Amino acid sequence: MGKEKSMKELPQGIAAIDAPFGGFPLLLYLIKGRETVLVDTGIAETPREKIFPYLEKHNMTPEDIDKIVITHAHHDHFGGNYDMYAANPNIEFIAHEMDYEWMEDHQRHFNEMYLSYTDQWTPDAAYEKGVLDAAGKDAPIVTVIKGPHEAIDLGDGLVLDIYHTGAHSPGEVIIHIEKLNCVITGDCIQLRGTMNENGVGTFPLFNNVERYIMALEKIRFLECEYVCTSHTGILDKAEAEDMIKESMEFVAAHQENILETLRSHPDGLSLHDLADILHDKYYSVYENAYQLHATTHAQCQFLKDQKKIRRVPRGGKLIWKL
Ligand SMILES: [Zn+2]
Ligand SMILES: [Zn+2]
Repeated sequence: MGKEKSMKELPQGIAAIDAPFGGFPLLLYLIKGRETVLVDTGIAETPREKIFPYLEKHNMTPEDIDKIVITHAHHDHFGGNYDMYAANPNIEFIAHEMDYEWMEDHQRHFNEMYLSYTDQWTPDAAYEKGVLDAAGKDAPIVTVIKGPHEAIDLGDGLVLDIYHTGAHSPGEVIIHIEKLNCVITGDCIQLRGTMNENGVGTFPLFNNVERYIMALEKIRFLECEYVCTSHTGILDKAEAEDMIKESMEFVAAHQENILETLRSHPDGLSLHDLADILHDKYYSVYENAYQLHATTHAQCQFLKDQKKIRRVPRGGKLIWKL
């Protein structure tokens, strides 16, 4: 947000498919070794509108794609799975064990993600329809990645090292390709959220603060020349470092804003009231939706573990207080 995205030229062996939707930028990545691997499939319309035309332009067909790795179980990353599967049922779909069921069963994904704070925030029917439409039809995941790391060897030293980061979604992964000096980060670097072209922001989303910081540090540690994000373009090392710093600063600032808000409400606040006040006071450029609640919840858990705040039951609700 607020930064011009850089579109660095990628080295031979990897290409970006430009696949924006609904005012949001989106890049998918195609890696070519002895086999061809696509990373993420966008929303339901993405194969028809972006992937198939791209393949055609480059003298390829869906038959040429051997594997698809999904970085994480959000509908803008797996929504095209069904159409890719329908176009080539031999494609091996790969995802982490902590996310794959959400990609196979979209109603379950909606219920378990968006309805996880129903006493605090509930999406309306239009919101649900928007998510389920974009998620497309259910499609099977063939290979499940277990544990913290797995490698896919594409031959000639081209290896995809898949690391579980699990911050932005439970089974989120990043993909390091040492031979190409590049890392595909999905939505791992959350910055200050994403702005769509109408100026409405999506709040940064992470479910666990420690995992999020570890994920950002992992990307920093890999020191790749090409940092391939889903929504923020292709970054060089220095740009990635700036964005990692900005993301970490946002985490600290959001924590300070939570503490400040709770200081002025000594009786404590429910997650919903806390999110509302944060929204009005600091974050009104963002949609007051799932992301604000989930990330604020994760931050409160972290502050509780740090013994900076407490969680107490009151009238059937859990209240956060100093
Ligand atoms: Zn995401
Ligand atoms: Zn995304």
